[in-house]
Amino acid sequence: MRKELIVAIDGPSGAGKSTLSKALARKIGYINIDTGAMYRSVALLADRQRVNVADEKALRQLCSNLRIEFVRDAEQERVIVNGEDVSMAIRTPEVSLLTTKVAASRVVREAMVDLQRRMGQSGGVVLEGRDIGTVVFPQAEVKFFLSATVEERGRRRYDELLARGMAVDLQQTIIEIKARDAADSAREHGPLRRADDAADIDSTKLTIDEVLAEMLKIIAERRQAFSE
Ligand code: C5P
Repeated sequence: MRKELIVAIDGPSGAGKSTLSKALARKIGYINIDTGAMYRSVALLADRQRVNVADEKALRQLCSNLRIEFVRDAEQERVIVNGEDVSMAIRTPEVSLLTTKVAASRVVREAMVDLQRRMGQSGGVVLEGRDIGTVVFPQAEVKFFLSATVEERGRRRYDELLARGMAVDLQQTIIEIKARDAADSAREHGPLRRADDAADIDSTKLTIDEVLAEMLKIIAERRQAFSE
């Protein structure tokens, strides 16, 4: 019997999932699994190894050789792929674009969902992505669907890239987010979809602390019910 919860956070790009799931996991002492970073890592390796996204055999091979670890220290979280720290390399706009294509592949999704289930099955985890509450863990005890207007999400992503010293344009960032929303929602396998039993949180006008407080309240209730 599992003693701790599985917390699923889904929503579109830039809604604040990453920041919030990290903060939430730290606060409640759970492991944070950033599933977007997993798809991004596959895209990064596919790009480096010149794997065509239509080549299912090569993608399957790439996924089966993928060793991914999430390492957390006092200040930050890092993504280590096959021993290399790829935390920065997976966040470029080029990798974001390729990730959307890679994430539409049935072969890649099957491999990643399998990995995510193995990582999260014992509970005590916060997983963030697009299909966590619908496909990966439909039985998750807590599900959040985090959203915000596309303009607000674009502005946040723009600020984030700018802070990393990247040359970006706000309007272009909004256009890219809209394109990713459309691709993530329309794909056949594991599309971005709100689970019927998810709690909706619109973060457009809320601070991180306000959203966090709302999430913690819901988790405390479920944890109580779960341990009874
Ligand atoms: O969350 P993040 O923006 O890092 O995700 C990058 C991309 O990975 C998304 O645009 C989406 O195409 C894909 N993704 C996915 N399923 C998930 C998480 C991310 O398809 N569970």
